[in-house]
Amino acid sequence: MATKKTGLVCSMCGATDSSSNPVVNILDGLNLCTDCIKFIDDSRDRQLTSRKKVAAAKGDAETSAVPKPQEIKEFLDQYIIGQDEAKKYLSVAVYNHYKRVNQATSSDDVDIEKSNIILVGPTGTGKTLLAKTIARLLDVPFAIVDATVLTEAGYVGEDIESLLTRLLQACDYDVERAEKGIVFIDEIDKIARKSDNPSITRDVSGEGVQQGLLKLLEGSTVLVPPNGGRKHPEQKMIAVDTKNILFICGGAFDGIERKIAARLNTHVVGYGHDESARKRQRENLMRYVMPQDLKSFGLIPEIIGRLPVLTSLDPLDKKALRRILTEPKNAIVRQYKKLFLLDGVELEFTDDALDMIVDKAVEYKLGARGLRSIVETIMVDPMYEVPSNPVKTFTIDAGYVKSQLEKAHFEKTTIAG
Ligand code: ADP
Repeated sequence: MATKKTGLVCSMCGATDSSSNPVVNILDGLNLCTDCIKFIDDSRDRQLTSRKKVAAAKGDAETSAVPKPQEIKEFLDQYIIGQDEAKKYLSVAVYNHYKRVNQATSSDDVDIEKSNIILVGPTGTGKTLLAKTIARLLDVPFAIVDATVLTEAGYVGEDIESLLTRLLQACDYDVERAEKGIVFIDEIDKIARKSDNPSITRDVSGEGVQQGLLKLLEGSTVLVPPNGGRKHPEQKMIAVDTKNILFICGGAFDGIERKIAARLNTHVVGYGHDESARKRQRENLMRYVMPQDLKSFGLIPEIIGRLPVLTSLDPLDKKALRRILTEPKNAIVRQYKKLFLLDGVELEFTDDALDMIVDKAVEYKLGARGLRSIVETIMVDPMYEVPSNPVKTFTIDAGYVKSQLEKAHFEKTTIAG
């Protein structure tokens, strides 16, 4: 028979302290016998195992939920015209990224490196749209930030960490979701090193910012000011781990063709030559962009190393602009047709009207961005009048486009603005 020892009684089962089942004092007023401690430990282990199983199963489900590269590209095709090369690169990179992210929850310790992306191409060709569309497909938080507002700590501008504030805001400060989000950093070319510019004594917005960005791109825990802007000492910070945040950078890299040409040992055809041949060469050259060209342009090698997926976007020609007007799922023309249909009016654009809109966008050098402002200018009057004077159909032809644009002094306003 067990001998009575301390006289302590187990708070759980009521057993008295004995050499075969000693009772120990855990906390003030809480005594537990060895059997009960073992019981608690076992049940906690069981709980942990089942939680791990749930997490692993969730991981599997997430992996299978990540669309395959071809599915991603097909989705992008619905919204973005052309840019096949960029779409392909992006689809593969995003697929691998989210596979990697989901794998982190399993016990496998093979470390797949993060594949941040850099998109090089003229402004208004769909870089932001690509990133935005991917985020929509994956249903992850997405933020667009402009690299030009970022400055090194201590200078006027926004702290580099503040770019994560936007991401946090995009998901109501749900840190866990933000840590799997996508950040699009626009105008990355504007923070290129400007060391060959003698008027800049301290490269506030260049190399220093690149160094700061590096920390985020490679993955580390950073303290983010919840309201953005500058950090100040009494502010409460939010810790965000950037390990699984996908960074997509975009930039026009104006003039990079010359660096590419120099590397390829060819020449960009001079001004005296035929414009279309020059343009063709320019288009082709952009396609050969390599990491070393980004370096010649002024990005530091460490940043380039953290943006391993490099791809280019093509300039949009008239044919592409024409398709952008009507083909994407949320094409501007489709949007207006839907708006009118809600009032029971069938809106029609004739082919020559669409051609003229494209011509004007090219003429005013507005690119794809201009299509919307031109269509909006044309549609102001019909939008104002039609709801009060319902008609069955409303047709926009070239004559109407011309008169509306003239009436709105479109040329003057766009050039002034
Ligand atoms: P950027 O390359 O400067 O990031 P954006 O992606 O912001 O250009 O494009 C501006 C707008 O032009 C988009 O919102 C979209 O309406 C239109 N656009 C640009 N490129 C395309 C494209 N390839 N396909 C469809 N729409 C496009």
